[in-house]
Amino acid sequence: MPRLIRLFRSVVLFCATVSAAIAASVLPNAGFEEGLTGWVTRDTMSQVLAEAAHTGKAGLRITDADVKKGSDLTSAKLPVVAGQALTLTFSARAQGDFLGVYFWFHDAAGKAVKNDVFKHSGGLPSVGVKKGAGEWTPYALKATVPEGAVTVAVWIHSWGSATGTADFDDFEVTGLSAGAQPIIGVQPDVAVQAVAAAMPELSQRKAPPVIIIKLDDLRQIDGKVPGAWIKIAEFLKSRKIKGSFGVITQTLEEATPAYVQWIKDRHVAGEIEFWFHGWDHGVWTNEAGKKMSEFGGRTVEEQSARFARSQKLAVEKLGFAFATFGPPGGGSGSHQDEATAQVMARDPAMKVWLYPSPIDASGRKLAAAGKVAILDRVWAVNFESRVGSPDFGKFVEGYAKNPDREYFVLQGHPTHWAGARFDEFVKIIDFLTEQKAVFMTPSDYAASLGGKPAQQVAGGKQG
Ligand SMILES: [Zn+2]
Repeated sequence: MPRLIRLFRSVVLFCATVSAAIAASVLPNAGFEEGLTGWVTRDTMSQVLAEAAHTGKAGLRITDADVKKGSDLTSAKLPVVAGQALTLTFSARAQGDFLGVYFWFHDAAGKAVKNDVFKHSGGLPSVGVKKGAGEWTPYALKATVPEGAVTVAVWIHSWGSATGTADFDDFEVTGLSAGAQPIIGVQPDVAVQAVAAAMPELSQRKAPPVIIIKLDDLRQIDGKVPGAWIKIAEFLKSRKIKGSFGVITQTLEEATPAYVQWIKDRHVAGEIEFWFHGWDHGVWTNEAGKKMSEFGGRTVEEQSARFARSQKLAVEKLGFAFATFGPPGGGSGSHQDEATAQVMARDPAMKVWLYPSPIDASGRKLAAAGKVAILDRVWAVNFESRVGSPDFGKFVEGYAKNPDREYFVLQGHPTHWAGARFDEFVKIIDFLTEQKAVFMTPSDYAASLGGKPAQQVAGGKQG
């Protein structure tokens, strides 16, 4: 399909009048309550989701991240008579001006009936969906059935080079003959093929993976929970997914009741595990002039003091001590060392260490002592390919290469996930949900191991 140019006005084809009886919309599954039943797509950009609903339980979400192709979703065909005045109404909300809704007319031989009046939009009457304020907006498309046409279908299409996300619901076509019966198209297999083509071969897993979502750098800003954190927490809740947020504890000193309560509510509900991600996340310079991260190269006493100060504040303000630690990054050295291992062994509340790397000798020794479970990382399998940039393609590539790994700690920085980056994260979650992944908090997963060590990268059988 050539790229179509937007035409924002509602349009009328011919000025003929019709005397046929007028009936209400018979468009099947016009509100997507039955998934994509009754609709035909040749891509994977059109999905039915609960969070895309305007009314009812489900709505259509178009997610177009492809700069070469547009989305393509077509309704059942409805019988029409030349000269009938049709009106299509629907609701939409869009995060960009990147798509439109069209009428396709066909003749008795199934050939498209186009009209030069609409040559700016490929010969089809159309209405462009506008970003607006990102709120649900009612739209209408009016057109008169052209000579020779015997059917009409509704087509939802995002433009080739454009990208964005938009939700649709509540389609209705009026102006049809009484008793008009829809002709439902056959869904081609290409949607499935498109996914297969984009994805590496996935070998059979013995069991679905456990996924530990590790999101870093929560801190209070201007007395508030930053919006990106509220967004991600709500998203995880809407998917009934557990996760974990790493807290930089320094701002707990000045924590507002609102910030404290937000953490407490999610902790008590068991939705999110909040863990210790450093006192200030600061980079410091050692005697050799090398930039080091907060827990790299400091004495046991210094590291211990940062843990103790943070745990005290957590208990005072939040009502619980952190049971999990994940060291902050930064600088050019290691983000943890033998001194950190000693502090972890001593801190009475600490049970889990989210290792920033594959496990090493020091970690193995501590894990063997039994007090602290070490959950290490498979570098190739992560939300972000670069810090702050989720990448679905890279994720699946790494995932496909690790069919024997029992769990993955997936790291991310949601304050960097604006717009399309967040969508990329959602794609990874969608994929993992299809894989029947079990989402757990670090503490829940460590507890589920019942004292046996977690599967590790080094010495493990993973590739
Ligand atoms: Zn961090």
